[in-house]
Amino acid sequence: MVEKPDVGELAPPNRTLMGPGPSDVHPRVLRAMSTPLVGHLDPSFIDIMNEVQELLRYTFRTDNQWTIPVSGTGSASMEAAVGNLVEPGDTMLVPTNGYFGDRMASMAERAGGEVVTVDAPWGEPLDPVAVETAFDEYSPDVFGFVHAETSTGVLQPSVPELTSIAHENDALVVADTVTSLGGVEFRADEWDVDVAYSGPQKCLSCPPGASPLTLNDAAMDKVLSRETQPRSWYLDLSLLEGYWGEERAYHHTAPITNVYALREALRLVAEEGIEERWARHRSIASALKAGVESMGLEMNAPEEYWLPSLNTVRVPDGVDDGAVIEYLLEEYDLEIASGLGALAGDIWRIGCMGHSARAKNVSYLMTALGDALT
Ligand code: PLP
Repeated sequence: MVEKPDVGELAPPNRTLMGPGPSDVHPRVLRAMSTPLVGHLDPSFIDIMNEVQELLRYTFRTDNQWTIPVSGTGSASMEAAVGNLVEPGDTMLVPTNGYFGDRMASMAERAGGEVVTVDAPWGEPLDPVAVETAFDEYSPDVFGFVHAETSTGVLQPSVPELTSIAHENDALVVADTVTSLGGVEFRADEWDVDVAYSGPQKCLSCPPGASPLTLNDAAMDKVLSRETQPRSWYLDLSLLEGYWGEERAYHHTAPITNVYALREALRLVAEEGIEERWARHRSIASALKAGVESMGLEMNAPEEYWLPSLNTVRVPDGVDDGAVIEYLLEEYDLEIASGLGALAGDIWRIGCMGHSARAKNVSYLMTALGDALT
């Protein structure tokens, strides 16, 4: 017989989230999530969908009609982008300078594409010259890059240069903006990015579950004129068009509460102003950077590519990175994270995103880290 489980009421610890995401959720977003459900085709929800799309366009800096929240985490919006753009036989060019280029590659392969790479060491951005050389060598149909690499704390500069190389070669560009959207300058239209995807749990300070995606007409034309169906029914954008486009017809039941949350999170972006929000992330993260440097610690990413939303700090010789992380969590209820992949054991990753990007959090982190290291 299966016994009745004795599980107590949910009481998670009250953490300060300064890892690579999720970040602290704004109380207004939490309140929005406790409001009553309506149906996913209710006229009031249709209005909410329109508002979310308008707010997403503002945040992505785009007029793209095709701007939606994808049900699922950032990997769902990533797979919606890659899985719809890459047809069997297409070639996709992906970067090797961090953890998430590999994930793009894996998705492109599963979509039936051939994957080719443009290389840069972990901890450095892509060099436009290397991208141009890769285009000459492979003539890819799709080029993906990571605007804010969460594994290395590196920001990809010169985005317009990269997109113009791709467009001169008739390729479409996909940008991963999971750790930049709403926190670090990103301009989809002005920088000529065809497709950008993101996640809500980083600089938007919203729980994961409904993930931003935008496609321009060129990208959507390719998606709608595919010869083969994408391999995922759930993420098929030509079907999702029925729900998020003019028709507003059933495809799958939208994660209503997550859409409420995203609406409130994006309303906070619009209230603050997107440029003001980028400036806040920069100034709060500058204080964080100055603080860790004044403790004698070294940032992993050089100043030119420093990513304010994700600060990578080198673990000093003789210090156990995991023990410090554990101490901060146990003694201070403060979350930071260790390095991933090639940087595992070498760095700490300290997020400064959305509602976590506050002076109060930085002072708290300095006190806690100072204590852990003495
Ligand atoms: N891309 C980047 C740059 C990320 O940092 C992440 C998650 O941390 C993802 C994609 C995948 O997002 P998720 O974990 O929400 O599926």
